[in-house]
Amino acid sequence: MNTYTEHTADTPQIYSLKNVNRVFGKGKEELQVLSGVDLSLHEGEIVGMLGRSGSGKSTLLRIIAGLIQPSSGEVKYHGKPLTGPAEGVAMVFQTFALFPWLTVLENVEAGLQALQVERKEARKRALAAIDLIGLDGFENAYPRELSGGMRQRVGFARGLVVNPTLLLMDEPFSALDVLTAETLRTDLLDLWSGKQLPIKSILIVTHNIEEAVLMCDRILVLSSNPGRVVAEIKVPFPHPRNRLDPTFRQMVDDIYALMTDRRSADASVGKPELKMSSLLPEVSTNLMAGLIETLAAEPYNGHAGLPTVAERRLLEVDDLFPVAEMLEHLGFAELKGADITLTDAGKLFADYGTQERKTLFAEHLIQHVPLAARIHQVLLERSGHRAPRVRFEQELEDSMTEAFVEKTLETVVAWGRYAEIFSYDDHTETFSLEDVEGSM
Ligand code: ADP
Ligand code: MG
Repeated sequence: MNTYTEHTADTPQIYSLKNVNRVFGKGKEELQVLSGVDLSLHEGEIVGMLGRSGSGKSTLLRIIAGLIQPSSGEVKYHGKPLTGPAEGVAMVFQTFALFPWLTVLENVEAGLQALQVERKEARKRALAAIDLIGLDGFENAYPRELSGGMRQRVGFARGLVVNPTLLLMDEPFSALDVLTAETLRTDLLDLWSGKQLPIKSILIVTHNIEEAVLMCDRILVLSSNPGRVVAEIKVPFPHPRNRLDPTFRQMVDDIYALMTDRRSADASVGKPELKMSSLLPEVSTNLMAGLIETLAAEPYNGHAGLPTVAERRLLEVDDLFPVAEMLEHLGFAELKGADITLTDAGKLFADYGTQERKTLFAEHLIQHVPLAARIHQVLLERSGHRAPRVRFEQELEDSMTEAFVEKTLETVVAWGRYAEIFSYDDHTETFSLEDVEGSM
């Protein structure tokens, strides 16, 4: 189950990707996001792509849609190399991306704009799509008047109205509450099974294992750092599927184990050191402290399997990984297979009171997070012990896009504040050592 084998379906092939690579950034800060990705998509199937946050799922979808190019490798659509936006491929996003000033009908018609469909025909098709997806009667409503679930239905209708060969869906249910998501999944599956959808194939990206097993004929598992297809699982159960069926549960458990096994989930060998330009995830010090406390306490006493902890703390695997990984980077825990073990420093942290915890965290932050160390160092060296945010922004922008710089700085500010190694003034956007004990 650990190696990818070419899937040979009897139905015609729509897409084939061979040895697709994608790199972001340049020089020594180069980041290989996708490596040697092979996959094929065929008519009549729903294919799922599972992977942890940051494993390159959205990047792969954008490559398939022809919105960005791979750095190398081959993408063939209907047997021909894809060179630009793929005609007949529609995308549904996690958030609804609707025009607030347009009605439901106009939003759906907007999906046809690029295709130069005649006005009357466009209206007819939009109304049919709206009807199909269960929004009959809401044609003239505005997005703000709709619930989240209904807004996402508009998103589906906008994708379907072009009668796409392939519908790409990027975590389409993850912004919805549990019940709404389930209703929408079931409705979509009913339409698909009843052959009512004007599409040939669906590729759905998700980090929700149950969702993938519930909906898909085939599931591809993507590793992280870099992203490659590490497993392909065929789901043989007929629809409608029963989540409580033991064979269903077993498959979910197997995939869970596969994804929590870091050797397959993370293609990089050993623990990667953080670099100055590493993207820092939005993991709060509260979450880190919480996980340390959970691990230190009964029944774990410093050692646990991540799936068990996730279940017990009602977290999804996707929410737990970044926290566990940051604990490892900071030297508070070690990860091996699906297991996490507190280090001595981690155990100390759990025993300490508030102020001692901050001091210990500060030491580890400066030792293991180069960006935090750099900011601290610059402040110590400057005569007024102050430095503007832009000073660090510029340094990071050489290797990261603006959005990632924002996120990373936000995270380091939160951690630095907790550790009290520097202060940050949101108004003047300035770092300083003001109010930092022992450093002035
Ligand atoms: P996923 O959808 O699986 O969460 P993405 O495809 O969005 O993953 O991103 C994968 C990785 O690629 C991210 O961790 C990020 O570091 C990097 N990345 C994505 N887009 C860009 C970009 N425009 N510039 C730099 N790095 C990027
Ligand atoms: Mg994504």
